[in-house]
Amino acid sequence: MKIDTRLAERLKKINPSSTLAITSKAKKLKSEGKDIVNFAAGEPDFDTPDFIKEKAIAAINSGFTKYTPTTGILELKKLISGKFQKDNQLYYSPDQIVVSNGAKHSIYNTLMVLLNRRDEVLIPAPYWVSYPEMVSLCEGIPRFIKTNAENNFKITAKDLSKHITAKSKVLIINSPANPTGAVYSRVELEEIAKICVDKNIFVISDEIYEKIIFDGVIHESIASFNKDIYKLTITVNGLSKSHSMTGWRIGYLGAPPDVTNAISNLQDHSTSNPNSIAQHAAVAALSAPEDFTHKLCQEFARRRDYLAKRLGNLPTLSFCLPHGAFYMFCNISKTGLDSISFASRLLDEQYVCVIPGNSFGADDFIRISFATSIEELQIGMDRIEKWVAKISR
Ligand code: PMP
Ligand code: GLU
Repeated sequence: MKIDTRLAERLKKINPSSTLAITSKAKKLKSEGKDIVNFAAGEPDFDTPDFIKEKAIAAINSGFTKYTPTTGILELKKLISGKFQKDNQLYYSPDQIVVSNGAKHSIYNTLMVLLNRRDEVLIPAPYWVSYPEMVSLCEGIPRFIKTNAENNFKITAKDLSKHITAKSKVLIINSPANPTGAVYSRVELEEIAKICVDKNIFVISDEIYEKIIFDGVIHESIASFNKDIYKLTITVNGLSKSHSMTGWRIGYLGAPPDVTNAISNLQDHSTSNPNSIAQHAAVAALSAPEDFTHKLCQEFARRRDYLAKRLGNLPTLSFCLPHGAFYMFCNISKTGLDSISFASRLLDEQYVCVIPGNSFGADDFIRISFATSIEELQIGMDRIEKWVAKISR
């Protein structure tokens, strides 16, 4: 008997992560000397700051290389608690915090403890590639709420109400959003919160791009609005994007005590604590002033503006200006190609790597990451401009 027929049913429906697969393909081609322009990256292109690395080296040298408490060391959880209070007006005691192996792990843990078989999870679309797959892994059912450029890729309270059924259990909100760069305002989130409280729906608020936000737009944490929505919300964040620490794998969440305890038990028997050395590095990151993050954000704003100017000159591609994160989500429907054909031909013919929108539930789009230098953006855009003109003739 073939092994794949004996694999667990829950895994048969799961696709590999296209964002990770395409990013590693681009990196591989580049390391082989191919003249690749990589617009696929889902991570900042800056190195992790030295003061963070030094703390990790010190942790190794001082023997901080053993198991820690499952949910993270107290020093780090106190800093996270302080961060939530200062930045988000959110009061999570250190006991209400779980540190995990990246925000992806925090979200997965949350879905694992919230979902029973066939519970429904409401996901605004376009969505980050891993949400529906994680829901399926937890034997839940993803239910998509479509958004479009006309509503700036944001759901309204009315859209949400229309999609709620007796099986709806969780809503995932990602603001600033990957892949669209949409940022919800306080008023928009307050209306969504009202519905969730009314219908007793949990909210997973994925705030990983909180610090990468432009144009003076303010990031809002839904859990901070009132005690009713606080009790239903799991607030997820991490250091991958704000501190250019994607490889270190540190994410965290704050949640009501029952949820935190359940996640702690799950983590006890699955991964145990996140890496002890990376936790020490995270202490350095969260105790320092935010100079690095501010610089990172300013640089992303400069690149976004450059990219917007270049794309603005292309009549065949249209986009909504992103107010956060580091992606430009471009409508390619006027080229007559679907997103996979567009992305694979662009890679084969021009060596420019982008992520096809079908990974995010939007086949008329491609995602261009501006987590790359202005010089690379210029080279890539020169190639895209010429190529799009040629295929659109
Ligand atoms: N949420 C979103 C929307 C993301 O784009 C990412 C990036 N991978 C994550 C969560 C997870 O980040 P990490 O696991 O590196 O903390
Ligand atoms: N979040 C990033 C992206 O969307 C990193 C890759 C991943 O974890 O999926 O590209």
